[in-house]
Amino acid sequence: MKINHLNNKSNVLGVFVDKVRLSQALSKIKDFLSKDKPHTVFTPNAEMIMAAHRNQTLKEILNSADLLVADGAGVVIGSKILGDPVPERVAGFDLISAMFASDLFRETSFFLFGAKPSVLDKACETLQKSFGLNIVGSRDGYFKEEDSTDIIEKINASHPDILLVALGAPKQEEWIFHHKEALHVKVCIGVGGSFDVFAGEVKRAPLIFQKSNLEWLYRLAKEPWRYKRMLDLPKFMGTVLRRKLRGR
Ligand code: UDP
Repeated sequence: MKINHLNNKSNVLGVFVDKVRLSQALSKIKDFLSKDKPHTVFTPNAEMIMAAHRNQTLKEILNSADLLVADGAGVVIGSKILGDPVPERVAGFDLISAMFASDLFRETSFFLFGAKPSVLDKACETLQKSFGLNIVGSRDGYFKEEDSTDIIEKINASHPDILLVALGAPKQEEWIFHHKEALHVKVCIGVGGSFDVFAGEVKRAPLIFQKSNLEWLYRLAKEPWRYKRMLDLPKFMGTVLRRKLRGR
């Protein structure tokens, strides 16, 4: 990687997160729409960066992204402790919500891939009603790997500008990484459980939790079965602190 490229990125345990605010991330995505090859956008949180710290392949997949934003207070705090801060949290859900509401993307078409069939239908309905979103196709996220060719054909036949992939992390990042060359889209974004939120199945933490960096605590209370995955958050902080004490 070139040095000037690295200047705009924060090295968080070997994952290079873009130092961008939400508005800058939107401009970059808008810029990707004018390019020839598909560009990828991933939004890792601290748990995912910790998983990438253990798994070199996942780290390479994340670092292959054209735009990597910090989804989660943990990544922002970690980057500050490491002395290479990202300016703000850019949660995947906030990023796509801002995109749907922005005039920059008024003419943009979307394909939604992921979530359970009923959730996906509800999310499409809500997005069309609330934002007048131009959804040219959709496909639920329950499939066998050998179905991927048919899914890609369906996506390509719909000619979307942007493909939103909601298969959960790291499945969505792996799927995008392995298939992006076959996809005739301008941008692929991994969006986690966002369709469930748009469908009203899952609630985002109240603003007070989000602002005080405690969204993880709200999520743990609401979805306690996530606790195993969330144990990676203290592990992430411990690894960051050790790295800081060792001088990186
Ligand atoms: N999902 C899917 N296919 C799968 C596994 C998950 O479409 O094989 C969907 C799931 O229905 C949900 C989303 O992926 O809509 C994952 O949400 P979760 O909140 O677990 O993801 P995270 O944001 O934590 O990555």
